[in-house]
Parts: sequence; structure tokens; C-alpha cells
Amino acid sequence: MSEEKVTPMMAQYLGLKAQYADALLFYRMGDFYEMFFEDAVAAAEALDIALTKRGKHEGNDIPMCGVPVHASEGYLLSLIRKGFRVAVCEQMENPAEAKKRGNKSVVKRDVVRLVTPGTLTEEALLEARRHNYLAAFAQVRDACALAWVDISTGAFHVMPLPLVRLGPELARLSPSELIVPDAKEGEFHYLVSEFGLALTGLARSAFDSTSAEKRICQLFEIATLDAFGTFSRAEVSAMGALIEYLEITQKGKLPLLRPPVKEAEARTVQIDAATRRNLELTHSLNGGRAGSLLSVMDRTATAAGARLLERRISSPSRVSETIKDRLDAISFFHEAPQVMQDVRGLLRQIPDLDRALSRLSLDRGGPRDLAAIRNGLAQAATLSQRFTDTDLPILIADAQSGLDVHEMLTTLLDNALVAEPPLMLRDGGFVAPQYDAELDEARTLRDEGRSVIARMQQEFVAQTGITALKIKHNNVLGYFIETTATHAEKMLSPPFSYTFIHRQTTANQVRFTTVALSEMETKILNAGNHALQIEKRIYEELRQAILEVAAEISVTSAGLSEIDLATSLAEVAQTEDWVRPVVDDSRAFEITAGRHPVVERALAQQGGSAFIANNCDLSADATAANIWLLTGPNMAGKSTFLRQNALIALMAQIGSFVPASHAHIGLISQLFSRVGASDDLARGRSTFMVEMVETAAILNQADDRALVILDEIGRGTATYDGLSIAWATLEHLHDVNRARALFATHYHEMTSLAVKLDGVDNATVAVKEWEGQVVFLHEVRKGAADRSYGVQVAQLAGLPESVIARARVVLDALEKGEREGGAKQKTLIDDLPLFSAIPTPPPAPAVKSAVEESLRDIIPDELTPREALDLIYKLKQAA
Ligand code: ADP
Repeated sequence: MSEEKVTPMMAQYLGLKAQYADALLFYRMGDFYEMFFEDAVAAAEALDIALTKRGKHEGNDIPMCGVPVHASEGYLLSLIRKGFRVAVCEQMENPAEAKKRGNKSVVKRDVVRLVTPGTLTEEALLEARRHNYLAAFAQVRDACALAWVDISTGAFHVMPLPLVRLGPELARLSPSELIVPDAKEGEFHYLVSEFGLALTGLARSAFDSTSAEKRICQLFEIATLDAFGTFSRAEVSAMGALIEYLEITQKGKLPLLRPPVKEAEARTVQIDAATRRNLELTHSLNGGRAGSLLSVMDRTATAAGARLLERRISSPSRVSETIKDRLDAISFFHEAPQVMQDVRGLLRQIPDLDRALSRLSLDRGGPRDLAAIRNGLAQAATLSQRFTDTDLPILIADAQSGLDVHEMLTTLLDNALVAEPPLMLRDGGFVAPQYDAELDEARTLRDEGRSVIARMQQEFVAQTGITALKIKHNNVLGYFIETTATHAEKMLSPPFSYTFIHRQTTANQVRFTTVALSEMETKILNAGNHALQIEKRIYEELRQAILEVAAEISVTSAGLSEIDLATSLAEVAQTEDWVRPVVDDSRAFEITAGRHPVVERALAQQGGSAFIANNCDLSADATAANIWLLTGPNMAGKSTFLRQNALIALMAQIGSFVPASHAHIGLISQLFSRVGASDDLARGRSTFMVEMVETAAILNQADDRALVILDEIGRGTATYDGLSIAWATLEHLHDVNRARALFATHYHEMTSLAVKLDGVDNATVAVKEWEGQVVFLHEVRKGAADRSYGVQVAQLAGLPESVIARARVVLDALEKGEREGGAKQKTLIDDLPLFSAIPTPPPAPAVKSAVEESLRDIIPDELTPREALDLIYKLKQAA
């Protein structure tokens, strides 16, 4: 077989591809990004687009597929979502330039950017109301640290973090990409499925803390890192790896990062991944935003405000000062609804300053980003005037001081830009008239040319007598004269053929030009190009003017988000009837008439029954454990009650009003919940195993400031095992952890613990029995439930009549056995299968006797002996 020569273009492709082996290479060819070989096969399948072929390589067809450049963002997004990374390779010169170098020369191309989940900046690729974090985890000897950045907003954070806390912290931040040393990638692989993040290995050298420090200093143009505080070597290493990765993916164009902020774990409530999921803080259990706490609390008017709220919900504070400041800000607007509405009206018109700024800094922006900065800053200044109060709460006063500080920049942008600029820089038309004399002149020339052309048309019509003659423009021919085919003959014959030069004949039209028209066209083109060059220069000047004050703009934006969040929380508080909680350093936990914010909303939307408010008090003893042991039938509302109290405590520490008539929360340091785990099949653990792992974590970690929510623990195993585990767990929580806890169980035996343990109280969710059926009252009362009503609940669920009847018999037998002692019960249980296996035959139609009819309605459990005897007499009579 003859050795085939690799074409110069293919050689270029293979060279570039070799540098980005783990990414798909988007290879720019004219108006398309093309992919070849395995890339093409993978992308064609992922994007459901046609796979074609082009040429041969080593004797085989080269598979190829492509996406049009103008629609590439959508395809990029699909690929990123499916876990690919994409290297975008552009043409670095135009084909004419390449030709100059020789006939066979290939256009110069290079990768300009590596697109990964954690490094997106495009509006279309990002969720406006969510952060998009890129994180790096580093270990230097025994110390570990996590650093994270949102390059679309510039936020940059770092914290020391022991390896065991990595999971919970990732659950809080939910980054879309995590960078780890490549040698250790395998150890972190489990995080991919657990948190749905992309894992990226980076060479060890990227984590070297000495060169990392240099990199950070260079980026921020500081002499020493001490300027930002003291950082451990692990922290420096994590931050350095992040910056290195940004350099690789952005090809040297670094985004505008704010100075790193060091976060301390001790300032926020510790919440592990399972608890976050169970309580549906930012996502509901089915993955969406609807049904989460976030969805109920979010009334923010700006995308940046929404992102701030998500950060707050993910990290409730445990510093009472911070919480008080946030509550003061909400109270301020809550008490002045008029101001609140007015401010919210203004906020709604504020664009996303952070993301516009980030695109401008990466030079990926356009005229609309300039306009976004102009509009946002102008609006911020207007907003600032609304706060005439001299006695503003501290958060609002701080925010306000950063709002109206950009007069020069706003005036500049205002003068320079038209009201609504076009999207693309390359189209021009965004600089306002009278901003630049040279531009105005070029534009006048161009526009005059256009009106000359309009005049030419009139002259041609007069000259030829063809009234349907038109001068038109398209990108291929430029300006041309068009007549219908009927007039063509006339135009093609003298004397007109001396002036009109034929260009093209289409189905119905014939097109011409003249010398004068082409000259005019060149003039217009030159003037237009000149105008465009000037606009590009002005764009660059404005961009630089903005970037010079980028830090101040970030402060303005942060202030706007703070005000947005305060007004938003004030508004929900008002419409949903939430109240300001008291949060202090005590160990109180007193909630009067508390409601579950999400369930309440859902009930209201269904228009059915109202939510029943309930009290919860875990403050009986200020020094010891306080635990409520909650019993009651399934569906009574136990889980709802448990969760609502946890949510109310969290909301209070987020710094929000809460759904209750009164709430007093002594600061909570940790929140744990074990609520109805589902099988974690992906990780090969059964429900019971998951439950035990989570329970172990709670018992090992909870301290006396923890709040613990345990729902039906021990359910996943045999009755006696389950009961014993639940029993011992409660004792441990009481004696060792000394936590505040709510413990729901269906083991009635446990209610006797309330007598034995001082800090344990019984509570039950009340139900009423009516005509053999249960009615759920959803009222939580002190005391233990009398029975579990399981059979009645099963009946409500629509189990077949025969099964329900049979269940009653079995239950009856078991309960009787229990009263008469264990041994007897054993024989009873052994006996049962003898008569249980016979299914009730389907009723024969219409042959039911009166006796059978009346037997069907009898519930033996509810008969007194006397009534039973009477009944037998009655039946005997009927037979
Ligand atoms: P349990 O945990 O006892 O089985 P749930 O807490 O799951 O019960 O509640 C079952 C249903 O009852 C919920 O879906 C909800 O619609 C309703 N519910 C629960 N608590 C209340 C309440 N306080 N007021 C009104 N409806 C409630």
C-alpha cells in the first residue's frame, strides 16, 4: 500500500490536536468549526448531527462533522453539559494573507481558549441566577485547602479544609469543576457522581506553593502575599493551581479576579451533603429548583442578588452580629413598604454588572456590555438618592456609600454610546453621534454616498424610462441596478448598453452596474470601513476606562446585591407573613406557630386546606440535651414538622424572617438530618447502609450546639434490630452529644424513654378516627400516640379490600398475642401462613346473601363483646 501524504492542513490539525488530547478540537474552517477523527464520532453522537467524511488518512476515510460558527454557543453548551471539554481553534489570519506566503500555505490557526465547565463566561452558557464555581483542592503535607473562583463574576475565595470536610464543602458550593493533582485524580473520582462535577487533574508543578505565590503576586501586582492576609502553604497551593489552570484555559488572558477572601469554617453553620439534600435547600430532591427553600425565598430582582441569596442559603451564619445586621436591613424595608417597592422597581432595571465586567476583562464582550455598565451605574446612582434617611441600618448604609461614585465614567459612557447598541462589535453603530468628530465625518461621507445612490436611481429611471428600475445591495455584488426580465432587452441594447454593464441574470431579474455606481460604492465602502475602525478604537478606550475602575464597580455591584436581597426578603416576609426571629448566643429553641415554607406554599397553590401551624420548644433545659420524640401515624405530618423546624432555624441564621408567629433561636453551629434516604445504588449501598453511615456521622460529630433531625431511623432493617438501634441512638444523642434534637419514630416502645431520660419529651401528631377511617389533623401535641393506624392509612392508599381485611385479622392476632405474652405470639405468627396463602376468591356476581352483605360491613375490632353477641343472634335470624 502506498504511503499517503498528510496534507499540510491535516498536519496542522494533528499538531494542534496533540496538544489538547483530552478535549474536542473545534477547528475553524471559514464559517464552521469542524471536528475530525474520534472527536467527530463523539461529537456527532453527542450533538445528534450528521457524521460525514473528508479525505483519507493512513488509507482510511477521515470522519468529520461540523457546527456553524454563528450557532456554536448552543452546541458548546450541550457538549460541556455532557462532560466534554472543548478547545476552540481560530484562524489567526485571513486566507488572503496565507496565499501571499505561497500557494500551498495553510491559514495560521491556534487554540484561543479551552472551554471547560468551570471556565464559562458567555451569557448563553451560564445560569444568570447561579454562581459557576471552579475549585481547586490542594494538600501540603498534613494541611489541606480549597480555593474557588467564579470567573464570570471575579469572586475568589480560599479556606483551610481537612480532607474529611471536602464533601460537605463541595455540597455547599456545588462547583462545576474541581482541580486536583493529576497523580491523585483516582482518589477523588467518587466526587464526580456524588456532586455531578467535572474532575480535572493538573500536573504537580501547578500546585507548587513557591511558584504559586509568585503567580498570585504577579496577577494582583503586589510585592508580597501578606497584602491580602496570611495564608497557609496549602491555601497558596490551591490558589496557585487555580490561576495556573486559568492561564492554560484562557490562553494567558486572565479574567479580572478580586483579591482572595479567606473564609473561615467557624463562621458558617456546618451542614453536610446529605442534610443539604434532605432539606432541599437549593435544589429539590428531584434535582430542580422548584420545591426548594431557595425557590420560596427568592424574590430578588437582579441576577447578582439571586446569586447572593443562594450563597447565603448555602452558608447560614453563626455570628450573631452578622445575623442581626442582615435582619436590621430587612426590618428597615419591612417597615417602609413604599420605599421597598420603589427600590425594587429601580433594581429590576439593573443589568448583570459582574458578568459584563468579566466578559470585558477577558475581551469577550461587546457593545452591549459597555451599555450594561453604563445603565447599571446610572441606575445605581439614582437608587442612591432614594435613601434619604440619616439613620440607615449599617448594611444599607455601607451598600449605599458605594452606589454613586462613578459620575465620570457614567458621563463618558453616556456621551459615547447610543441608547441601545447592537450586539456585535464588528457591525459598528454603537458610538453616539457627536462623540468623535472624525467618526462623524466618516459616517457623513458614507451616508451621503447612500443618498447619492438614491438620487442615481431617480436619474437612471428618467434616463431609461423604466420605472421599475431599482438600485439594490447584497453582500456578493455590492450595489447593483435591477430590472425585471421584460426590460432586459432594452437595457442590453444601445444606447443603454454603453452605460449599463451586465452583471447577472436570475430567474426573473437582470442586474447591471455602471462606472459611476461602482465608484460611489468604493467611496461608501472606504468611509464605512474607516468609521468601523474608529468605532473599534473607541470601544477599546471605553473598555479600558471601565477596567481601570473595575474594583469600584464590583463594590457597587455588591452593594446593589445586598440591597436587592434585603428588599427581596422583606417582600417575602410581608406577603408570606413571616416574622423577625430573635437570634442570640443562648441555647433557646422556641418556635410558636411555625410553618413549613415550601409545603405551605404548595398547599396554597393547590387551593386546598390551609397549613396547620405548630409549636416547637427545645429550650426546657439551658444546659442539657433537649429532645422531642415524635410519634404518630404515617402521613400525619411528622417529617414536615421535623423539616420545618430545621428550616426555620436555618432561615433565621441566613438572616431572614421566618414562617412563624414568634421564633427564638440560640445559635446553631451544626445541622444534621437523617430523613428518609433513598437507595444509593450508584455507590452500591443499600438504604439501610446509607442510613447507618449518616447516623454514624451525626453521632460522631454533633456537639451541644448542633440541631439534629432524625426521621424513622432503623426503618430499613428487622423490627427488633431497628428498635434497638433507634433506642441506643437516642440515648447517645441525649447523654453524649447533648444536642437539641427532633426524633420521629414509629416504634411506640421508645416513648417510655421520656420517663427515663430528663431531656426527652414525647410529642405526637394528632389524628382523629371517624367511621373507621383516620382523619389527619396535623396538630403536634405533647404526649405519645396511642396507635399507628397503619392499616387505615393503607386503606386510604387504595390497597384491595381483601388485603385490608386480612391485615386487620393479622394485626388483631398479633396484638392479642403481645398482650398474652411472647411465646404465644410466636406460635400465632407461625400459624398465620396456614390460612393467609389462600387469596379471597373473586365474588360471584349477584349471589351474595343478606348474611354475607352484613358481614362485609362488620369491623370486629370495633365491637364490644355485647355487640358481637347481638350480631350473632341477628345473623342467625337472617340465615
Ligand atoms: P409523615 O412523616 O408523618 O408520614 P408527612 O410529613 O410526610 O407525614 O406529611 C404528609 C402530608 O401531610 C404532607 O405531604 C402534607 O401535604 C401534609 N401535611 C403535613 N403537615 C401538615 C400541616 N402542618 N398542615 C397541613 N398539611 C400538612
